[in-house]
Amino acid sequence: MNDVPATPAPLLELTHVRREYPSGDEVFAALKDINLTIAAGEMVAIVGQSGSGKSTLMNILGCLDRPTSGTYKVSGRATSDLEPDELAALRREHFGFIFQRYHLLGDLSAAGNVEVPSVYAGTARAQRGERSRQILTRLGLAERMGHRPGQLSGGQQQRVSIARALMNGGEVIFADEPTGALDSASGEEVMRILQELHTEGHTIILVTHDMKVAEHAERIIEIRDGDIIADRRREAAPVRAVRERPVLAGSAFQQAVDRFREAFRMAVLALAAHKLRTFLTMLGIIIGIASVVSVVALGRGSQERILSQISTLGTNTLTIFPGKSFGDMRSGKIQTLKDSDASALAELSYVDSVTPSVSTSVTARYRNVAATAQVSGVGGEYFRVRGLELLKGAVFDPSDVRKLEQIAVIDENSEKTLFPNGEEAIGKVVVVGNVPMRVIGIVGTQQQGFGGSDSLTVYAPYTTVMSRMLGQTYLSNISVRMADNVSTDAAAAAVTQVLTKRHGTQDFFISNSDEIRQTITSATQTLTLLVAAIAVISLIVGGIGVMNIMLVSVTERTSEIGVRMAVGARQSDILQQFLIEAVLVCLVGGVIGVGLSMLVGLAFSFLPSNFKLIYSTTSIVAAFACSTLIGVVFGFLPARRAARLDPVDALSRD
Ligand code: ADP
Ligand code: MG
Repeated sequence: MNDVPATPAPLLELTHVRREYPSGDEVFAALKDINLTIAAGEMVAIVGQSGSGKSTLMNILGCLDRPTSGTYKVSGRATSDLEPDELAALRREHFGFIFQRYHLLGDLSAAGNVEVPSVYAGTARAQRGERSRQILTRLGLAERMGHRPGQLSGGQQQRVSIARALMNGGEVIFADEPTGALDSASGEEVMRILQELHTEGHTIILVTHDMKVAEHAERIIEIRDGDIIADRRREAAPVRAVRERPVLAGSAFQQAVDRFREAFRMAVLALAAHKLRTFLTMLGIIIGIASVVSVVALGRGSQERILSQISTLGTNTLTIFPGKSFGDMRSGKIQTLKDSDASALAELSYVDSVTPSVSTSVTARYRNVAATAQVSGVGGEYFRVRGLELLKGAVFDPSDVRKLEQIAVIDENSEKTLFPNGEEAIGKVVVVGNVPMRVIGIVGTQQQGFGGSDSLTVYAPYTTVMSRMLGQTYLSNISVRMADNVSTDAAAAAVTQVLTKRHGTQDFFISNSDEIRQTITSATQTLTLLVAAIAVISLIVGGIGVMNIMLVSVTERTSEIGVRMAVGARQSDILQQFLIEAVLVCLVGGVIGVGLSMLVGLAFSFLPSNFKLIYSTTSIVAAFACSTLIGVVFGFLPARRAARLDPVDALSRD
């Protein structure tokens, strides 16, 4: 279309064009056998009664629709060879459309509507604004540029739509009943503008049922029941083609950014137009994300807590228990773990210190207060090895252990229970089981599992507990603290060797804190994964909600999609717009969901149990990635449905 032909070659050329519509079991031919050529610069009116096939013909000429059979060439190029996006480019760069009911986008201002075609064409922003202002001013709408279509009269709206048709040049302007919805004065005004454009060289194709309107054109094609019945030229006006090419493209990157911005703006406007609906859709995502993030944080919190309890065992300790493993029924009957074993182990070079221990549960009494207490018979190093904090008094030393002293260190819980009136406990004698013991120190309470730290613990020399309380000569277990820089395996092997030799058989097992830590870590991880999987199901349900509402949105906005396609939006532009909408819902839902889960964590921190939710950056980043993914996955189907709509189908729906 850029070369000036010597003889005016046909700009638009239809040969044997037929367009059928299915009608029940039959087909109905809206156009039967149309042969028509239109040269550049002509002003053609297509007239005929309602239902004669005018709009069908115009839609084919405008590349909004394709013929059932026959060929349509634009500038000598067959349109049947063109892909949907190539047709969109043709409409965008060379055509302009004016519809009977204007088809403006209600969410955009007059200037915004006029600029839509140039956004898709990639015109730089400043030039876009400049040009839309020029055109609107020329059409007498300088004062109305910021108005929404709803704030404009019919005549003004139609002038906005003419401006839109001119935005990218509008070499060929298709006007389908442009005056059909207007009063006669506004109609006259529109016709005057079209004629003026014609004299400037625009090719005008005007469809009307009104012969008086058709009289404005120099060539009148009459159509009846899908056939051309007359083709008259009133006068042979000099034909000249418009040479105007105003499309000044920005850089490819800038164009992509502009189109994304347009798609983003439309998505936001669409969401804002249905706030409650948007929120309810989002709610599914909010709940899903909040539960996934909370569950993962809860899992990490509990894991951390259990691990910190284990770490009180010390990182480099081995504990030797009688029996084959935890839960061995016979371990209670095995009485071979002796004090002398502990002494033998203490000789090993691998070993830093050894803490034998026995334990039992008895009643502790002070005056008229009695309570069940856990008695731990331990050595003096126990407190250091386990990291127990000494609050008052002292702990026992090796000579106390040797001499079977009747002394006790009690924990804070025991102090509170046995000395409820805040009496000084140090130096008092409490009866533990049947053994009177003098309290010499108070230590902090050791955490035992979740919130279960109400039990009372009394520590006494293990020798005292064994001989005076239990009358037994064997130990419950022996904790071995390994020397620094000794591998756990080597130490365990040495311990096993020594004890097996002493006992003649391996009737004990060694538990090491690293192993327990690993076991618990993997157990909590498995559990977290399991619960998170359930939470993910709620996310999927949320995603289905998003898909559902997106399908509704596409249906509602079909005619908007049609307009965008008519002015030259690519399929990818439409896809992008709806995909952004879906992703936006999910992403905002994700942000609110993470916020909600933080609130849950805050609520937890006020609960009496000192139980914390631990949020990892990874889980939050994953939540956002996840919600974006849901948006893309569940938004894709509706968005693709929108992008694949046929322009003429989309336009005809209201
Ligand atoms: P006009 O614009 O001249 O009033 P149209 O071109 O819109 O007429 O329609 C011509 C004929 O084709 C009419 O009988 C109409 O019912 C039929 N028609 C138009 N579009 C469709 C369609 N999408 N499906 C079925 N029939 C259609
Ligand atoms: Mg029509």
